[in-house]
Amino acid sequence: MVALVLAGGTGSRMGRPKQFIDLLGEPALSYTLRAFEEAAGVDGIYVVGDAARVGPLAEEAGISRYAGCAAPGENRPGSAIEGLGMVDEPEDTLVLVHDGSRCLVTRDLIERVVAAASDPIPDGVIPALPVPDTVKEVREGVVRETLDRSRLQAVQTPQSFRLGPLREAYRESGEALERVTDDASLIEMRGGVVRVVEGERTNIKLTSPEDLIFARAILQARLAEAGRGVAG
Ligand code: C5P
Repeated sequence: MVALVLAGGTGSRMGRPKQFIDLLGEPALSYTLRAFEEAAGVDGIYVVGDAARVGPLAEEAGISRYAGCAAPGENRPGSAIEGLGMVDEPEDTLVLVHDGSRCLVTRDLIERVVAAASDPIPDGVIPALPVPDTVKEVREGVVRETLDRSRLQAVQTPQSFRLGPLREAYRESGEALERVTDDASLIEMRGGVVRVVEGERTNIKLTSPEDLIFARAILQARLAEAGRGVAG
């Protein structure tokens, strides 16, 4: 099993590349990589991003399973293609594709996704959570439709697939690639079965500046909890 961490974004909504932003003394991406380093059964961690920065970062963070870095594509699907091209493993290898900017991912969540990837084997596994807000379709400042919230879930990463079928889905999806925002969509379009496991509220994606406030607070709470564990 390998992880493919997509960290090739430019952070246009954040104003700077979010994967290298400092969170309590370490770059955000170090937290992401460490979660995969610590998760059971992950043999290799591949990254898409700026190799000149990612390599030293992985070394500094003590990532022993770091397996290499590919240059980013123009958009997320482009980066996923570059990353999948670099993974040198058999076609039936489980690959966990993850947004590098979801730096609060936990070992628990990774292992929950992996556990759902077998027996019976689905075509994909994704973490998701019910949507707490009411969601409306809005066009030009006017509500068109209120969606039925009870049917909606907000989707996160890591998402797991078999390497061969995921590569094939990327190869054969043509123009649809312009619109997809996650990997599972490609598998769904081909009629694949995508199983859903419970995500985590703290598994946020660093997108806008205020997300850094949440991320630092969550990390601080985790540190305090770990400290209490040691003390008591
Ligand atoms: O843009 P979005 O927030 O959906 O990006 C999700 C993930 O994909 C981020 O971790 C980002 O770094 C990555 N990405 C990438 N290459 C791009 C664009 C986004 O690896 N060209």
